[in-house]
Amino acid sequence: MGSVGAKEVPQLIGPDGRRIDGRQLDELRPLRIVAGALHRADGSAFVEWGANKVMAAVYGPREVHPRHLQQNNKAIVQCRYNMAAFSVDERKRPGLDRRSQEISKVIAEAFESVIFAEEYPRTSIDIYIEVLQANAGTRCAGLVAASVALADAGIPMVDLLPAVAVGKIGGQIALDLRKEEDNFGEADLPMALVPQSGRLVLLQMEGHMNREELSRSLDLGVVGCRKIYDVMKQALRDRYSVTPAAPAPSVPTEAPA
Ligand code: UDP
Repeated sequence: MGSVGAKEVPQLIGPDGRRIDGRQLDELRPLRIVAGALHRADGSAFVEWGANKVMAAVYGPREVHPRHLQQNNKAIVQCRYNMAAFSVDERKRPGLDRRSQEISKVIAEAFESVIFAEEYPRTSIDIYIEVLQANAGTRCAGLVAASVALADAGIPMVDLLPAVAVGKIGGQIALDLRKEEDNFGEADLPMALVPQSGRLVLLQMEGHMNREELSRSLDLGVVGCRKIYDVMKQALRDRYSVTPAAPAPSVPTEAPA
């Protein structure tokens, strides 16, 4: 344990090179995705990622509210990311604060770049992300959940958007930060990837890292996103693939002599 002022700083990387939860630097937390978890939404997904629990619901294409936001040549993409008051250790004041507004905006912009919005002029595609339990990386978990929910709603997209936060902790580059690593690490770099093209559609950074560390972080994040992509596709397959019915037992056409 080190200390910053009166605050105890946990040792983020042990002598064996492992992190506080035993993970290697390039290891993701366990990720489980359930597509179509809600019945009333047009599309939905529930994501359990480490200690994060996030629900996403998608509605639309539907009438635009407020009306003046309507665009004649394409659908608009609206997102509301919200953290439940009970989702964190210290009760969060309910409602949309500046952080939630920022996260809602960057997530909507990420999806605007992959949704074929021109196919649905004068409509709105509305994404709701509810964080029920938070342990860092919730904007990425929200993006992953919303991606699967959009696909579940049948919204045409270039691709799904896997997302993950990479960071610098104890001087090392690490994949998928948990809360202590996010709080006490040197840098946090959430990103979202279009897997087919390798294009990044969300990239933010808090803290400091040099150019070489940034480059290694991006490489590690891309590898992480590709693993997350596989889990996302599997969630959709689990929901939609129909197992072929077992062949009917053959019935003899003629009675044996
Ligand atoms: N957090 C919190 N209270 C808040 C906002 C965040 O306890 O009002 C915690 C929560 O666990 C969150 C983490 O801090 O996941 C990191 O927040 P950040 O703003 O970096 O976003 P995130 O990593 O969740 O995308």
